Amino acid sequence: MLACEFFFFNLLFLRYYSCFRGTTIGFYTINESTIELLEHTDFPTIKRRALTTLQVNMGYLCNMSCVHCHVAASPYRTEMMSRELVELILQVLVTQNIETLDLTGGAPEMHEDFKYLVTAARALGVTVIDRCNLTILMEEGFEDMAQFLADNEVEVVASMPCYSLENVDKQRGKGAFDGSILGLHKLNALGYGKVGSNLTLNLVYNPQGATLPPNQKQLEADYKHELKEHFDIEFHQLFALTNMPIQRFGAVLLAKNQFHPYMDLLKANYVAANLTEVMCRSTISVNWLGELFDCDFNQQLEIPVPNKSRRHLSDLLTQNPAGDDIAIADHCYGCTAGQGSSCGGALEEEITEQAIEEISSI
Ligand code: SF4
Ligand code: SF4
Repeated sequence: MLACEFFFFNLLFLRYYSCFRGTTIGFYTINESTIELLEHTDFPTIKRRALTTLQVNMGYLCNMSCVHCHVAASPYRTEMMSRELVELILQVLVTQNIETLDLTGGAPEMHEDFKYLVTAARALGVTVIDRCNLTILMEEGFEDMAQFLADNEVEVVASMPCYSLENVDKQRGKGAFDGSILGLHKLNALGYGKVGSNLTLNLVYNPQGATLPPNQKQLEADYKHELKEHFDIEFHQLFALTNMPIQRFGAVLLAKNQFHPYMDLLKANYVAANLTEVMCRSTISVNWLGELFDCDFNQQLEIPVPNKSRRHLSDLLTQNPAGDDIAIADHCYGCTAGQGSSCGGALEEEITEQAIEEISSI
């Protein structure tokens, strides 16, 4: 068995069992054991700046059920945000003067209020990001979704862990690669991803093992060359994300005795300058119940924001979280290792001399 086959075998094994939080795998318990290993941390204290982005998980319904999915989304999940919370999002966008609404799931497009929320947010002048799995664009009942996204100038961010059919299908399920290519063609035909187009199409890469992602710019060049040459596909940017030692990936690390070496790798590559741009400083994450978290990773680990008076979306109608402490743990080293990592990819390009000076005030 090749190393990568062993890795995917583990993922398949974990997928079967990890629908149930706290389930034991071998000697390990999913989630709880990684939290215990992460919570005692020497990661520096960081505080919030002005809120610019609201990241919303609309629910766990998805047309796919990928082995690596951190929320175990599938066509059978029923957890979905209520219409009342969707209305509350719109009020918070106004109250907090938020620039960007970042929609995720599950497949956020499958939420019955997705189009309502997008249309209303765009009418407010808010930039909307759709974290799209691409295959949803080809599903029955969603044939008009790509056109809707284009009409509303929604930014599309799509996971594309590799440009080879074999690797993508292993990670996301049989047919995922072909479905993704069809979805990308559909978006390209509408103008998404073209040079000079205002229809933004960005792709997301993450390593398939316990390594740091390669240089984002170089990898982006490789992706652009391969996808253009073999599939006539264009896109704007590639975001190279670092795998977090949590949830299924954390459990795989534990099962393979790689957890501590991987943490050592993240810590050995710590770059203090990345602290200025970690996404939690300007983004807040909301789950389908309206509960607030400092980031999507903390949402997965169920680590709430430290300020007990601001733990629900409704609290943002009357309170500003700027200046609040951020809930940190050892997984935060995943955001600061090497070139840095966030929902928008590597951080290092964002770091200016002024920002580096700012580190002393964190
Ligand atoms: S497409 Fe995304 S949300 Fe859906 S199962 Fe796959 S990883 Fe999870
Ligand atoms: S893991 Fe979350 S809280 Fe920690 S640095 Fe990264 S974005 Fe911030």
